[in-house]
Amino acid sequence: MLGLIMTDTHYIGGSAVAGTSGRQQDVYNPATGAVIGSVPLASIDEVNQAVASAKAALAGWAATPPAKRAQVMFNFRDLLKSHHTEIATAISLQHGKTLDDAKGEVARGMEVVEFACGIPHLLKGDYSAQVAGNVDSYSQRQPVGVVAGITPFNFPAMVPMWMFPMALACGNTFILKPSERDPAAPLLLARLLTEAGLPDGCLNVVNGDKEAVDTLLDHPDVGAISFVGSTAIGKYIYGRGCNNGKRVQALCGAKNHMVIMPDADMDQAVDAAMGAAYGSAGERCMAISAVLAVGDDTADRFVAQLAPKVRALKIGQYDEPGVEMGPVITRESQKRVEDYISQGEADGAEVVVDGRGLSLQGYEDGYFVGGTLIDRVTPDMSVYRDEIFGPVLSVLRPKTYEDARQLVIDHEYGNGTAIFTRDGDAARDFAANVNIGMVGVNVPIPVPVAYHSFGGWKASMFGDHAVHGMEGVRFYTKLKTVTARWPSGIKEGAVFNFHSGSDTK
Ligand code: NAD
Repeated sequence: MLGLIMTDTHYIGGSAVAGTSGRQQDVYNPATGAVIGSVPLASIDEVNQAVASAKAALAGWAATPPAKRAQVMFNFRDLLKSHHTEIATAISLQHGKTLDDAKGEVARGMEVVEFACGIPHLLKGDYSAQVAGNVDSYSQRQPVGVVAGITPFNFPAMVPMWMFPMALACGNTFILKPSERDPAAPLLLARLLTEAGLPDGCLNVVNGDKEAVDTLLDHPDVGAISFVGSTAIGKYIYGRGCNNGKRVQALCGAKNHMVIMPDADMDQAVDAAMGAAYGSAGERCMAISAVLAVGDDTADRFVAQLAPKVRALKIGQYDEPGVEMGPVITRESQKRVEDYISQGEADGAEVVVDGRGLSLQGYEDGYFVGGTLIDRVTPDMSVYRDEIFGPVLSVLRPKTYEDARQLVIDHEYGNGTAIFTRDGDAARDFAANVNIGMVGVNVPIPVPVAYHSFGGWKASMFGDHAVHGMEGVRFYTKLKTVTARWPSGIKEGAVFNFHSGSDTK
């Protein structure tokens, strides 16, 4: 059994390593506001040590047959299964999401590990015989080298597992810089990988802030950067990483719309909106934060059915029986979300269910915001334009399907969207014409399964390759094409004997 909460180290060269920078940051339980740990913030030297460790491990790991690399992933997957609840508890305690939700997060990460187990097949190249006289061509995918991942607080296990299983299976070595707000789960994952048989140095975890990130972005030995987080930071990382000649994928912020057509199954749409808007306190990049109810009648029915459910949400700490929603991540986050609600109200929207000022008995110092439903929002309001990242759902009332589609198209973000309808024409038109990376038809959070790829458009992603699926293989490998000519002709009477290599005449 691994120790439950380990946050006060890095993980370099296959071992937990104490921080030496002298800089530490508190880690909180967001449900109580209590400090429950401390995380070291790496210095430039410590990041350099992690890169050196990954570089030293690279040649051996890259030369390991893919089937053997896959065997480590099979072992890792078994360990994830046996430690599922432990990892989920570490997530819930530091992030605040319910235990069921955290278990779901680990399960989604596990699916990427399962996909990575198929790496021998995924790395198979193309071969063309006789591209010219006695000349053959073949392509192969080789690892990029030392690669790094920088990840957000909202999925401290799943988002790192979008990255390192694919990167490692492809033969790279990896440095993870997880969110400093909930570092326990990534450290647990690193320890499990060592237990699974991953050679020391292949996966390193450095905890830290901007100093650690900038060191990775500028380090000449780091060949590629995967980032998931907010758009402002993602843009910065993409620019600086690309300027330094690195391959960069940066998956960023979102404002996901759910279009509800007048013919939609309203019970289904309301249930879908409940989970998609308020699950994980709205702190998901695929959360639905704007409903576009087509026509006033649709909007009236939707709000009337949803409001009582939002009022009835059971809010509390992750391990309370029946709890449906936890706190947001920090005190600042709580204030930011409440300020957005106030601004929406000041701008003329109707706050139908108000989550401001929620105080829960026994958790008075927790960072809770109640489920909030705001109707009659218009496109110019900040509550609609900005990513709020809290349990706040805005309802807009476009008159027609075309008006709704245009709102989706015009929005700055392009991560996910959904349409709820029984009309095949509308659904097909929507899927074909919106400029959004992931589209759901009667599916509220259309997160692709691990063997497809996850990524947004517009300000929701910078870079050319999405994560996992074949896009993940392409991002973490470089394509090499070999064209080979061999001496022409075989000598008369040559024998190629299967049993012995020595009797070719
Ligand atoms: P964030 O951008 O604040 O932090 C992400 C990472 O960047 C962290 O590791 C953090 O330490 C680092 N970082 C923060 N400030 C930095 C700076 N100035 N310079 C260098 N590095 C810095 O994001 P967050 O608050 O942890 O996560 C929430 C955001 O992530 C939301 O915007 C959400 O939409 C987004 N997100 C996107 C996806 C996606 O797939 N598109 C998935 C999950 C989360």
